[in-house]
Amino acid sequence: MSSGYTISQLHDNLQQGKTSAPKVTEEYFRKIKKEDWNHKIYLTLNEKVAVEQAAALDKKIRRGEKISLMEGIPVAVKDVLCTKGLRTTAGSKILENYTPAYDATAVKKLREEGSVILGKVNCDEFAMGGSGENSAYGVCPNPLDPQRVPGGSSSGSAAAVAKDLCVFSLGTDTGGSVRLPASFCGIVGLKPTYGRISRYGLIAMASSLDQVGILAKNVNDSALTLSAIAAPDRYDGTSSGSAGKDFTRDFNKGIRGLTLAYDKDLIAQSEAEVAEKSLIFLEKWKDAGGKIQEVQIPFIGKESVACYYIITASEISSNMARYDSSRFGVTTRKAKKGAYRWHDYIALCRGELLGKEVKRRILLGTFCLSSGYYDAYYGKAQQVRYCVRKSLADIFKKYPLIFTPTSPTLPFKIGERVSDPVKMYLADVFTTTANLAGVPAISFPIGNAKISGKKLSIGGQLMAAAWDEETLLRAAYWGEKL
Ligand code: GLN
Repeated sequence: MSSGYTISQLHDNLQQGKTSAPKVTEEYFRKIKKEDWNHKIYLTLNEKVAVEQAAALDKKIRRGEKISLMEGIPVAVKDVLCTKGLRTTAGSKILENYTPAYDATAVKKLREEGSVILGKVNCDEFAMGGSGENSAYGVCPNPLDPQRVPGGSSSGSAAAVAKDLCVFSLGTDTGGSVRLPASFCGIVGLKPTYGRISRYGLIAMASSLDQVGILAKNVNDSALTLSAIAAPDRYDGTSSGSAGKDFTRDFNKGIRGLTLAYDKDLIAQSEAEVAEKSLIFLEKWKDAGGKIQEVQIPFIGKESVACYYIITASEISSNMARYDSSRFGVTTRKAKKGAYRWHDYIALCRGELLGKEVKRRILLGTFCLSSGYYDAYYGKAQQVRYCVRKSLADIFKKYPLIFTPTSPTLPFKIGERVSDPVKMYLADVFTTTANLAGVPAISFPIGNAKISGKKLSIGGQLMAAAWDEETLLRAAYWGEKL
């Protein structure tokens, strides 16, 4: 479990002069250099700017001025979110030298709030993966057991929070990439409603599912960060909702009478420790005054995963077309020397610089969208997506929340699933549904399992109706205390 400051603790300490922004910032960089000496968590540091920012904040505090909640709070940003003047690789060799000319809106909002960006953190290449092993820069170990994966694709975002190499971090979640690593690393991961946070500046994987998410040490920090960055944005036509909402507002309502719907069969499909801790959690929820209700949740499981992988691969094949090494990104030596035709140039660069998983999905997506197969695959998957949405909406008409484990298994060993992509994809059985339906979901620790002397974490997932983050966060706030 993570240690170190939470947002409100650090804020109070800064405001009351118990510590100073330069001291905190320098301490974090010292720790990062020591504990992440091989750069598997942080790919790029933002030290100079961060130190200057902390010094300016210090002056402000010394002048006796009040600071806002997020000011001076050190944050790590997943390397698929564009950061002006700060290298952004998307975990890929093809963008190894790419420095964006603009900030993603979520990043810009944090900068405006005064948060201190410590650096950019590792992830699966273009966010395609569930274990962190698809990064071109190597996998970072799980902080709870270095032989195991941290979960992905926001692997560095989760490991950085769990090891207290930042106070909180930003990730992105297309099919579980915030919730799965949060679950594997023993922290809290929030994927808001599709559109709640602007996607502007998020390097697209599958645009109809991508969403910026938050990884934090507790639910309160997740809610505070969401309040700071959620807003409609004229640069993202799919963004919506209202700005400046207080997502902690409902915490004091407690959980009396609040119902969690759950599907017994889904829990039973999970590994023994995961199933056991999930059932214990539900019992505790009931004992604490909440209600639980058994339901059948169709379409969570193999159907949603199959549908998810067809839709994402299709969108990926189109989104990835822009990486042709001619407008930005890396050009290979072979291409410079040996390509006489435009197509050869692109093929040489993409062939060498994109990873295996990215290529697999481009091929799969191109196939699914090809004229002879469109109806059979992409068209069908869209129909299944409608059914997923509808089946969740029907449940939310009766009950405010759905509970599942976040992952059906404990964190697996590094290398264990790389040769079996389908097995890897099945890590997402419980998480992809929320993205397909566009609803908000959160993962928080519900227990531990001791395996070969290591204490691994087990995450529980809650989903709520679209735009009902208030109820989702309220339930998770009390849930994490159980
Ligand atoms: N593991 C999923 C995938 O590989 C989720 C990725 C994500 O949410 N970015 O597609």
